[in-house]
Amino acid sequence: MIDIQALLRDNIKNLKPYSSARDEYTGNVGIFLDANENSYGSIPEGKLNRYPDPHQRKVKEKLSEIKNISTKNIFIGNGSDEAIDLVIRAFCEPGKDKIMIMPPTYGMYKVAAEINNTGIVEVPLTENFDIDTESVLAAIDEKVKIIFICSPNNPTGNLLNENSIAKILNSFNGLVVLDEAYIDFAKKKSWISALDNFNNLIILQTFSKAWGLANTRVGMAFACEKIIDVFNKIKYPYNVNGVSQSLILKALENEPDKNKIVNVLISERNKLADALISLDFIDYVFPSDANFLLAIVKNATDVYDYLLKQKIIVRNRSNMIHCNECLRFTVGTDEENKKLIEALKKYGAEQ
Ligand SMILES: *Cc1c(COP(=O)(O)O)cnc(C)c1O
Repeated sequence: MIDIQALLRDNIKNLKPYSSARDEYTGNVGIFLDANENSYGSIPEGKLNRYPDPHQRKVKEKLSEIKNISTKNIFIGNGSDEAIDLVIRAFCEPGKDKIMIMPPTYGMYKVAAEINNTGIVEVPLTENFDIDTESVLAAIDEKVKIIFICSPNNPTGNLLNENSIAKILNSFNGLVVLDEAYIDFAKKKSWISALDNFNNLIILQTFSKAWGLANTRVGMAFACEKIIDVFNKIKYPYNVNGVSQSLILKALENEPDKNKIVNVLISERNKLADALISLDFIDYVFPSDANFLLAIVKNATDVYDYLLKQKIIVRNRSNMIHCNECLRFTVGTDEENKKLIEALKKYGAEQ
């Protein structure tokens, strides 16, 4: 077990958190004259005049049932991006400490570190997009406080090796953030059930992908109570708005609908992969455990520009390490995917 207190920045350890009106009185009946809200209502009408629950209790209770984990191990954020920022802010002394990332990967880890004036150690994935475990372990020094691992990885779409993840968790005396934004689409289960064994593990999930709620900006972090307490201590008091909280609660009550949509997306993904690989200017489609496909495309930037002219927007990932001539295709609806393939066929015919 890792001493979480010892990893914390001193200023965060010593911080007395802001106490909001809804922290100091938590009942929900009465005459509320404590928070300088507008007692007459809101413009436009819609009962939005009261501050939301700062601790998202109802959402956490429902999530606790679904994920089979105590509410004390759940943090709800303004997107999982909030948790990425909070973990760096709480544990990395600006100008001194570092995080480790494994490119090609999600861009926010680096941006959040740079905003916090935190150094970045890059240990690229191997050419087949898996963890270079030996290099990761060799690159750890006393300044590296957090290792970010994204599995399934964005933009490559693959799950990373579980033994490598376990090895890092067991060998590293800092925190490991495992970003599971795409876990609902994967053939392996979440690492949530391993939280009891690793108090240095932080798992990120999101409502932005499988749940289809990117607009609500809600993400989750699961970790030991000490880490969750730190996040709650430093987050903005009302970090998740009430409209989003009630929508998320409704979504959680309809979990089977999410599973249905995930199954549709997976079957569309597999169809799309077959269609892409049948095109002679597409050299390879990487296997995917996510809701997108990375493909090696001849003259990728040319193809990207061609699609853009047809108002089909994909992601050009050609500039990322090991992703030379790679485009990333999000799986669309059946109709959208057909239009994409039609456009690509037309491109092929014009060459
Ligand atoms: C999309 C994505 C997220 C989601 O971020 P939110 O802030 O929750 O919308 C997180 N991690 C990765 C790797 C992603 O691709």
